[in-house]
Amino acid sequence: MRIFIVEDEPDILRAIEYNLRKEGFETESANDGNIAMEKIIARPPDLAILDVMLPGLDGITLCKALRASKKTSTIPIIMLTARTLEIDKVTGLESGADDYITKPFSIMELIARIRAILRRTRVNSDSDEKLKSEDLELDIEKVTVKVKNKNIKLTAIEFIILKELLKNKNKVLSRESILEKIWKTEDSSNIETRTVDVHIMNLRKKLGKAAEHLETVKNFGYSWRENV
Ligand code: CA
Repeated sequence: MRIFIVEDEPDILRAIEYNLRKEGFETESANDGNIAMEKIIARPPDLAILDVMLPGLDGITLCKALRASKKTSTIPIIMLTARTLEIDKVTGLESGADDYITKPFSIMELIARIRAILRRTRVNSDSDEKLKSEDLELDIEKVTVKVKNKNIKLTAIEFIILKELLKNKNKVLSRESILEKIWKTEDSSNIETRTVDVHIMNLRKKLGKAAEHLETVKNFGYSWRENV
């Protein structure tokens, strides 16, 4: 597993790299957004950690650019944010990050988040079943989603949310239960439920017309409605 870290503060970068290597990860890094972009596109990692404030290209622009490029659109991304203002931008509509962590943070927490994302995206012990809803088809084993046979690129987290919704058609899933699915063995109590709303919004955008089954249950959660 190779993790790409973009961080311009040498001490933080060193600490992250040191600890990730100790945990058995390969690491690659850059301290400038533009250089990071080039390196990541040239050799996409298994996961990327992006600081928000960076020389060159800032982390949010970089995140959007990676999501927009075919080669890098599904890389799991964790953002490092320093201020409330940055958190708003990261959790805002278009950033496309899978998760964010606020500075100062503990390295152990960062590693726990990384492991959770990788576990949920890579290891899919579920059977090779496909989940379907009209023109939409989700292949659990291949980790693909198609609408009218056209591939839809989802982030790791969006895929998990859609899978849970399709598995539980016509049931209502609370935001908390969706968070639990994503973070499974981790304590999700410190993750804000509104991050679920952001992922759902992005999911709706990507699914287009197929998302008309995705219903918001006000102040509670979400449901995939389908006449059986
Ligand atoms: Ca910085």
